[in-house]
Amino acid sequence: MQRIVVIGGGAAGSAVVGELLRPGRSADADIVWLVGQRAPGRGIAYSTSADHHLLNVRAAGMGLFADDIGAFLKYAASRGLPVKGPDFVPRSWFGDFVESSLARLVAESGRPGRLNLQSREAIAVHGDDRFGFRVTVEDGEELRADAVVLAVGALPPAPLSTVTPAALESGAYVTDPWQWPTLAQAPERVVVVGSGLTAVDVLLSAATLWPHAQLTAVSRHGQLPRTHASQPGEPYLHQDELLETMRARPAIRAWMRAVRATLEDDDVDWRAVVDGLRGATPGLWHQLDLAERSRFIRHLRWLWELVRHRMPPQTATAIARLRSQGRLKIVAGRVLAIGGDGPLDVRIRPRGSEIQRSLAADLVIQATGLATLADDTQHRLIRQMIGAGVVRADRLGLGLCADAEGRLRGADGTAAPTLRGIGTLLRGALWECSGLPEIRALARVIADDLVRELGSRGGRRDPGLALATKGFGGRDAFIH
Ligand SMILES: Cc1cc2nc3c(=O)[nH]c(=O)nc-3n(C[C@H](O)[C@H](O)[C@H](O)COP(=O)(O)OP(=O)(O)OC[C@H]3O[C@@H](n4cnc5c(N)ncnc54)[C@H](O)[C@@H]3O)c2cc1C
Repeated sequence: MQRIVVIGGGAAGSAVVGELLRPGRSADADIVWLVGQRAPGRGIAYSTSADHHLLNVRAAGMGLFADDIGAFLKYAASRGLPVKGPDFVPRSWFGDFVESSLARLVAESGRPGRLNLQSREAIAVHGDDRFGFRVTVEDGEELRADAVVLAVGALPPAPLSTVTPAALESGAYVTDPWQWPTLAQAPERVVVVGSGLTAVDVLLSAATLWPHAQLTAVSRHGQLPRTHASQPGEPYLHQDELLETMRARPAIRAWMRAVRATLEDDDVDWRAVVDGLRGATPGLWHQLDLAERSRFIRHLRWLWELVRHRMPPQTATAIARLRSQGRLKIVAGRVLAIGGDGPLDVRIRPRGSEIQRSLAADLVIQATGLATLADDTQHRLIRQMIGAGVVRADRLGLGLCADAEGRLRGADGTAAPTLRGIGTLLRGALWECSGLPEIRALARVIADDLVRELGSRGGRRDPGLALATKGFGGRDAFIH
């Protein structure tokens, strides 16, 4: 029996495993799913239990499979949840849906033992024979694999270079916005570095947890994400013409001119134009050379993130309320240094000013977005894979080198058909890769390809492979 090892238990790993298990897919391979310590199906985004952490995509668009996008809505209706298609609902509901979908697929897959889910982390992947692999797990056991899918999400965030070691050691600086320390005392002054969607989540949690704290968010442009309209709008009528113009001249300045000209027409809804670019983004990104891609990152990325990753209206209202109550300030400025050992001293240069300013903070939370710098990462597995030449870091710090279907490239540049990546680490290859619509589309392609690829090789037996199901708390429901 051949074997596919899927590494990572977030939405991306779930979508791949789910696709492989779907009835009708003739995968003649066992699946080993290494999910680490987090509950499978939830990952970072859907592990939260906070009701104010909402999906930033309308409920109607949140299915796990590309050919069943309405599945989340159907699930919500079956559970009696008050959800309509255009709503933005708590992310934990979506996590429940993914868990329940996987449990159902496992039950229906009809082959006991086909999925072997383990709460262990992969720490190494080595090539073995031609396009075969050895996967080492944290306790040292080695698993042989005919195919490997890396679905590990974004990399662990590294502290900003402007933070002093003393500030880091003080415990008052939080590098990972999803893992807060337990504090002996509620902080009175909280500074959040960043003002994107992650920062918004952090601000809402801080405001709930510490109702008397003064909150300040600092980012270079001091701009919050734009807001979704309360109801979905109509698609932009002339999107195809706009895309044709852009494809004809793959250069950032030309693209900006084309988009600005489009938006000059008052009747055009900017959200529709941005949404219409989303599906075409990987193709457009592919057309840009390295210089144009870095131009985009330097000059335009912040603006794209603002308009593309929008807040639900309820979230925008909650943030506006905090601002009008004087509890939240948004500051545009560059963070020059973060020092001290409690309270911390956040030195900034406000935008457009030469005069530096200091903000005193009992707690500083770094919320600067998804980390993708693979060279020098603390992620043990990615570090090992780069070191061994199994994969290669993207030259612009945008994850790993891969082709458009997620075939990861080794040090020699060859794209391996049975070593696939999915999710945020494909940013350099696709740019648009982290959201569920992109994840589920790629999961389908990967599952189809792996089934075809392994099928064409015929069964290769790995007699030495010992796959014991490791303890997984109360989640044995997934394990046949
Ligand atoms: C806060 C937040 C909110 C979001 N909201 C939305 C939304 O509303 N709609 C939308 O479409 N997208 C949203 N996204 C985008 C999101 O990236 C995707 O929807 C999706 O959750 C990404 O899943 P993932 O599996 O790629 O990554 P992750 O969720 O990060 O999961 C990766 C998993 O792999 C595990 N892992 C890492 N290394 C190893 C290893 N060596 N061995 C074993 N396991 C490992 C990690 O512990 C983690 O559980 C959001 C993202 C964030 C961060």
